[in-house]
Amino acid sequence: MSEKELLRVEHLKKYYPLKKGFMSKAGGSVKAVDDISFSVNEGETFAVVGESGCGKSTMGKCVIRLVEPTEGKVILDGEDFTALKGADLKKAREKMKLIFQDPYASLNPRMTVKDIIAEPLDIAGVIKDKKQRDEHILNTMEQVGLNKEYLSRYPHEFSGGQRQRIGIARAIVLKPKLIICDEPVSALDVSIQAKIINLLKDLQKQMKMAYIFISHDLSVVKHIADRVAVMYLGHIMELADTKEIYDHPSHPYTQALFSAIPKIGEGRISDKIVLSGDVPSPADPPQGCCFHTRCPKACERCTKEVPQLKEIAPNHFSACHLYDKGE
Ligand code: SF4
Repeated sequence: MSEKELLRVEHLKKYYPLKKGFMSKAGGSVKAVDDISFSVNEGETFAVVGESGCGKSTMGKCVIRLVEPTEGKVILDGEDFTALKGADLKKAREKMKLIFQDPYASLNPRMTVKDIIAEPLDIAGVIKDKKQRDEHILNTMEQVGLNKEYLSRYPHEFSGGQRQRIGIARAIVLKPKLIICDEPVSALDVSIQAKIINLLKDLQKQMKMAYIFISHDLSVVKHIADRVAVMYLGHIMELADTKEIYDHPSHPYTQALFSAIPKIGEGRISDKIVLSGDVPSPADPPQGCCFHTRCPKACERCTKEVPQLKEIAPNHFSACHLYDKGE
């Protein structure tokens, strides 16, 4: 992993306006992502974890502008990705790709494997020579462990793991610098998950790509990530190197999540087992610290004041009043 910054996300927000109705006030909004900032270095795996509905997938889609952010900036390779339009946006998108959770839903059932992998190449128009283009497609299939004989087959003819390999081939065919992996193995059998994770690690070594790895499986994240950000109700609650955060989780929310790993076995986050109380609605988040309604350490200040993400140890950040030194 290099020390060179590849991606910087600054104060990213995604608010969905609510219509006035029985459950909502006029002018209200669902704050799916609420003021998030982080950076990712070249070749790094930056994991984002949290319970369902915490905003991690929306964050990933906003970074790649599959969903337009409400506010904030995404700087990719020194360029303001959020400000790009038309041909410039298309060109910059060659550097950043997305792998989806459900490999079947993300593949066009009417396209052959060859056409699926060729599509990004043809849109970018980077290889004009047909022979070179076909060779590149075959090489990409080999890289992801797909038999070249599958070239003319359709997605329904493959298992879930093979479909995800097709999705990965499509993502890497333009040699991107960053891939956003949105729960890339959670729809797969446990026996296949390790193979896909190892494939992602091998490809990263070969191609020096960075990953934003969105997951609710803490065992997988421990295995693959360099750094981990923990999200809750659209906010980052804690961010640190993987070993540091697993060995010394500081935030009460992270502590609750991580303490459940051995009980759950597979490391999946289950709100019922891990934490008492329901996750509040992002349409009506609690005042002050958004975790205070479930936090065993909450005090009066927590109900009024939003804690800021602060460095509590080298490269270890936590958003909790317990770590406000001298305040
Ligand atoms: Fe708990 Fe208060 Fe820290 Fe929030 S700020 S996590 S409520 S102790």
